Amino acid sequence: MRILITGGAGFIGSHLCDYFLARGDEVIAMDNFITGSPDNIAHLKDHPRFTFIRQDVTEYLRIEGYLDAVLHFASPASPVSYMAYPIQTLKVGALGTHKALGLARAKGARFLLASTSEVYGDPLVHPQREDYWGNVNPIGPRGVYDEAKRFAEAITLAYHRAHNVDTRIARIFNTYGPRNALDDGRVVPNLIGQALRGEPLTVHGDGSQTRSFCYVSDLVEGIARLLASNEVMPVNLGNPNEMTIRAFAEKINALTGNKAGIVYVPRPVDDPSRRCPDISKAKRILGWEPKVSLDEGLEKTIAYFARKIKRSVRQ
Ligand code: UDP
Repeated sequence: MRILITGGAGFIGSHLCDYFLARGDEVIAMDNFITGSPDNIAHLKDHPRFTFIRQDVTEYLRIEGYLDAVLHFASPASPVSYMAYPIQTLKVGALGTHKALGLARAKGARFLLASTSEVYGDPLVHPQREDYWGNVNPIGPRGVYDEAKRFAEAITLAYHRAHNVDTRIARIFNTYGPRNALDDGRVVPNLIGQALRGEPLTVHGDGSQTRSFCYVSDLVEGIARLLASNEVMPVNLGNPNEMTIRAFAEKINALTGNKAGIVYVPRPVDDPSRRCPDISKAKRILGWEPKVSLDEGLEKTIAYFARKIKRSVRQ
């Protein structure tokens, strides 16, 4: 297959590049490095089946030759980064999705949208199933991401219905692993970075809010299966192992041997109180469920951040 991955230098995008290249496909990655990083794809520079285009996906997309698939992963995705780039986040979810769909339509390519559990907002239904419409504050600080992704889902299905584009929608829940940006404020890199520097871990609020964490290799396998499936309606992809943020912080301190403890700091506005995917649809349709345990995934992630921090101290 010949695949375009927007956001190809991002955390998940770069792992998708690796996955499809290892499978024998040709990959074109596009990124403007707002939150993606050249480091994430540096190892692919000389790969014969890899091309990189530095471009903002909200501008007109010109790709020579055919495409089998367009995977639209470009977007700031952590609360800290989408609040730092609110206009860019709205633009890439709206205008960028429109451009990527237009390109898929012109090429007769399959289109896969990276959507998010944030479409459920601060959910009133638990765990979240795909038929739940969500509880989103459109005008709060997170609205820039949540509404952009809700629009992105709407325009994806409009292209499917009006133009017969072959579309897929993945609703991605919290995902972690190597190449998470250390400074993007997400709880996994943030707490691991603090622990490795021997600092107290910043837990927002009383830490009773919950999340469930999916290791990136599991997520990438789910994306590949969804792309290969016939399912047009959204599919949740995430790990259903739910835990409180306080318990998560205690785990990070235990795994790293950090003795500095936890500090409780104010909770961000509209921070969802509970989040956990119902993945029965993915199990049924894709035969997919996460395989990597939290301990195993965290061990790999901690080792990655330890190398990264050591390297930056040396420089
Ligand atoms: N969080 C925290 N300490 C941090 C960063 C995040 O307690 O240093 C909390 C945050 O308030 C949220 C959860 O951890 O309840 C997950 O936050 P993240 O930024 O990873 O993404 P979200 O799941 O909110 O999109």
